[in-house]
Amino acid sequence: MPIYEYRCERCQNEFESFVWSSRDEEAMECPRCGSKDVKKLMSSFASKAPLSSVLGSGCGTGGFS
Ligand SMILES: [Zn+2]
Repeated sequence: MPIYEYRCERCQNEFESFVWSSRDEEAMECPRCGSKDVKKLMSSFASKAPLSSVLGSGCGTGGFS
């Protein structure tokens, strides 16, 4: 599923949303203040460490915060 993270440039709220098409992306708005001045961030999947490195570090509870 295409999940993207966004940050609102008006209220600095960060949120995640499904984006199925470029049309959805154009209509994206902040769920808090309703502003369309939102900026796409890197995918949450890409920003997390690979599973193998988490398993290799021990119990795996220290990798996410
Ligand atoms: Zn906002």
